[in-house]
Amino acid sequence: MSISEKVIIITGASSGIGAATVKVLAQQHAKLVIGARRLERLESLKQALPNATIVPQQVDVTNYEDVQALVQTALDRFGRVDVFYNNAGIMPVNAMSVGARDEWQQILDVNVTGVLNGIAAVLPTMIKQQHGHILATDSVAGHIAVPDHVVYSGSKFAVRAIMEGLRQEQYQNNIRTTLISPGSVATELYQSIADKTHQQAEIDIEKQLGIGPVNIAQAVAFAINAPESVAVNEMVIRPTKQA
Ligand code: NDP
Repeated sequence: MSISEKVIIITGASSGIGAATVKVLAQQHAKLVIGARRLERLESLKQALPNATIVPQQVDVTNYEDVQALVQTALDRFGRVDVFYNNAGIMPVNAMSVGARDEWQQILDVNVTGVLNGIAAVLPTMIKQQHGHILATDSVAGHIAVPDHVVYSGSKFAVRAIMEGLRQEQYQNNIRTTLISPGSVATELYQSIADKTHQQAEIDIEKQLGIGPVNIAQAVAFAINAPESVAVNEMVIRPTKQA
């Protein structure tokens, strides 16, 4: 199946890695259903790509009904779903001693429950199709715990475990899984850091080190474009000079 025939759902498509992935896949003529909370950003992305097939839809990934509706839109419009990319995520930063329990819950809701909602919403369709590809944006922080990012790291370790377990359960149904683990990427992710000192530190790191979201988008496109018999299960993409 060529990429131009593929129906691809992307969450967290309103900025950063998700928006860059929309642009890269639109150039390859994929059929895209894109979700995030900021509908106006999704609409602007569609307007900036007038020749592309893009269906924007407001979605909060923590709300299962929203995610189900996103999958239903793809089915109503195109009759199937080939790829679901769980990309939405947030990264509040604080030392554990601060005890920011609300932030911890928010991280788990978006980064873990959000991914589970995506999987739950799309899996029955992919099993029925005996064909599909589920991706998730993890992080280098999902491989190595990072001080001040401990709960974020924990959420991304969980995503890695979930995606590997999903692979083991679903490969016989011809469902591929891909975990994308970026290092530092210059996006708007720092906006979810409420603590101003931590936020500035993150902005400084991204300015000094961060690679562009397009570099991650190209890795996503590579995994999606691999032949059906090839599952690119994991990719770690760091800036060359990141430790
Ligand atoms: P951005 O902040 O630019 O993008 C995050 C996206 O997630 C936005 O489109 C945002 O849209 C969406 N989002 C956040 N919360 C929700 C929600 N509840 N429901 C639906 N969408 C939501 O950052 P990135 O592009 O960097 O982040 C994308 C992914 O990459 C995340 O999973 C992040 O953890 C991961 N990552 C990023 C790294 C980096 O250095 N930038 C490094 C490693 C991993 P909206 O606000 O409109 O809902």
